[in-house]
Amino acid sequence: MNCEQGTWVAGIDIGSTAIKVVLYDGSRYVTGIAPTGWNPKLAADSLLAEIMARAGPAELPPLATTGYGRRCMDAAVTQTEIACHARGAALLVPGCRFVIDIGGQDAKGIRLSPDGRVEDFVMNDKCAAGTGRFLSAMAAALGTSVDELAEYAGGAEPYRINSMCTVFAESEVIGLINQGVSRESIIAGLDASIARRTASMVGGLAPQQPIAFTGGVARNCDIVKRLEESLGIPVIVPCDGIYAGALGAALICREESES
Ligand code: ADP
Repeated sequence: MNCEQGTWVAGIDIGSTAIKVVLYDGSRYVTGIAPTGWNPKLAADSLLAEIMARAGPAELPPLATTGYGRRCMDAAVTQTEIACHARGAALLVPGCRFVIDIGGQDAKGIRLSPDGRVEDFVMNDKCAAGTGRFLSAMAAALGTSVDELAEYAGGAEPYRINSMCTVFAESEVIGLINQGVSRESIIAGLDASIARRTASMVGGLAPQQPIAFTGGVARNCDIVKRLEESLGIPVIVPCDGIYAGALGAALICREESES
């Protein structure tokens, strides 16, 4: 198939927590997000249908999938998260030389060449420490939600949290609550620990600016600020950063359709 301007393609990022869909027609894109739930294929199909009804093509466009559940759909193209996040971030942050993505179940750093090719990457997908899952567990222990965490942290002095393992950190947090340490200081301490861990994970790749910070955890502005402090350089959080993987998949799908 030859993709002309106005011909739609779809990029679908089937993540551990959320499915992101991007419909792209060569000049504009439309997005949608929904929980992955217990049946990723069902959730992805219904999200895609909903976005197509809202804004996209009448017929099913060529699909490219990425993310941990990428093989659950019958797609024209299946690509790794590294390739897709790199492509998507480079569109969202022109000239991007480094991507830090923290999602529900993993954290990754990707170094890009000046022309946007992946030069090297590092990934933690072995344990929940420093990921959205860690943050969700801590939010539950503190009686709040991930969306509210950043408001609580608001500039508080961080209390040093020593455990990085989610299970031990949960016990440590409960112990601190019982000792009377303020919720604000505990949350600031958790944010600082995620920032330190991320900076140390990507440090070996010598991140250069501009750095795009993407994924669900980048929505927390206190973590963004502390990550900048730990790295010693600013990061850019593009407003559609959570869609970087899906957008990259759509771009790759379009390219492959044209070749
Ligand atoms: P995945 O692709 O693995 O599903 P995402 O990049 O979609 O990951 O991010 C999902 C994660 O983002 C969730 O685990 C959640 O904890 C985290 N998250 C969502 N909203 C926020 C927020 N406002 N602040 C911090 N973290 C958030």
